[in-house]
Amino acid sequence: MTQQSDSTSENSLVKVGDKTPLWTAPGTEGEVRLAEILQSQAVLLIFYPADWSDVCSDELPLLEELVKLAGNLKLKTLAISTDSLFCHRAFAGEIGLQRTVLVSDTRNAICRSYGLPVDEDGFGPRATILIDQTGIVRRVSVEPDREQPRSLVAVEELVQQVREWNGYPPGLEKWREERRHAMQLSRRQPLATPTRLQLRFWGTRGSIPVSGLSYVRYGGNTSCVSLTSDTGHLFIFDCGSGARELGQYLLETAKGAPGKQGIDGYIILSHTHWDHIQGFPFFAPVFQPGNRFNILGWSNCSQTLASVLAGQMEKIYFPVSLDALASELNFYALQFNGAELDGAKLTGRLLKHPLPSTAYRLELAGKVLVYATDHEPHALPQGLPPAPLGDDVIDPKLVQLAAGADILIHDAQYSLAELAEKVGWGHNAGEIAVDTAIRAGVKHLVLFHHDPAHDDRKIATILQAAHWRAEALGHPNLRITAASDGMALDL
Ligand SMILES: [Zn+2]
Ligand SMILES: [Zn+2]
Repeated sequence: MTQQSDSTSENSLVKVGDKTPLWTAPGTEGEVRLAEILQSQAVLLIFYPADWSDVCSDELPLLEELVKLAGNLKLKTLAISTDSLFCHRAFAGEIGLQRTVLVSDTRNAICRSYGLPVDEDGFGPRATILIDQTGIVRRVSVEPDREQPRSLVAVEELVQQVREWNGYPPGLEKWREERRHAMQLSRRQPLATPTRLQLRFWGTRGSIPVSGLSYVRYGGNTSCVSLTSDTGHLFIFDCGSGARELGQYLLETAKGAPGKQGIDGYIILSHTHWDHIQGFPFFAPVFQPGNRFNILGWSNCSQTLASVLAGQMEKIYFPVSLDALASELNFYALQFNGAELDGAKLTGRLLKHPLPSTAYRLELAGKVLVYATDHEPHALPQGLPPAPLGDDVIDPKLVQLAAGADILIHDAQYSLAELAEKVGWGHNAGEIAVDTAIRAGVKHLVLFHHDPAHDDRKIATILQAAHWRAEALGHPNLRITAASDGMALDL
């Protein structure tokens, strides 16, 4: 009925208990016939104003993720706007949708058949309708302001209802708890609690790799840090160019380990600026079958993690596509209360950066690691006071996240003088890292994300300034290190 007349525009808004109109319309996976879909599953209709808008670009991958984490449901998600099929296909590829079908409702016929309002420019609302398998409408919500994303809690409740139809236990709380565990690698046996954790730095530079005699002390690879344990844990923070050497190391270690099946671990991305993902195509373990990586990042950008990583591997940039990698790769957008990974608790906070960057806190076996790179202070400090800088300069979210950490890896790209000239560039200074560490009660501060313009001597002066700042604040014993490629620390 999609292409029928507009006579349906006077319909009143569909109500719970109404029978759904049975429409047919073009979709990204061929013609969508609602009646046919309802023979085997319930249907979730996601009406949204337009492809490519900021809100829709962020919202659709989140909704898809939410449904994915709800379990094996008999539920088809159809996202509907007036855009053409051509536009839908490009948009779905860009934002990395995998299971949501986009439906083209060019003349708002579907929209009007449910009595949804259409404005004079022909844009429909942001609305959500759930239809059960018998074709009865079970939930209807229309957002009062279509420029705002729909309520995630309302969608959670709706998906929980579908879960209950599919025999999952009742209760949203239980599902939320389940979801926190969903990003775990499924292992035959859970990993034992480790007695030894090792942190290794494979890339400590920001922005772009550097090489040459001026960089031999601290190294030139971009951001990549691994945390491993004596019982098999593997967490990788960011995949800058340092990931290449990490890959070689993991393959060597796996070769030497008797009876080991494959390399299983987590890749946790702070954000997707190039210096944090450019090593991924050179991370050899992803080319080998039998290895598995769960890749996690905050859903803070318009493209999902998978589509961003696929983008830098398109054939105009790189000869092997993401799809062709032989290892098992699972992508998760971390936006629901963090995650539980092999017995470790991972939480995160978004920090100030041109593309918001996530700082992570990982707690495992009583140890706490905080990885907080690529962020700048709220405001420039007006000189350095005799007490640690306050919330006007330092983001209190970071102080809270880093509370009591054994190791805090902190952006220290600039000297204070440089920071004053680079407001808005999204980076930090060693002295501010010290104030943050002291306020948070951190044991060991690691200065990270060195500027590519800084030679070894300049990085040493930034480290020296950090020591002086710690002394000035009455904490001469705060352990401070400038990260260097190849450095290993026991946690
Ligand atoms: Zn960076
Ligand atoms: Zn960045």
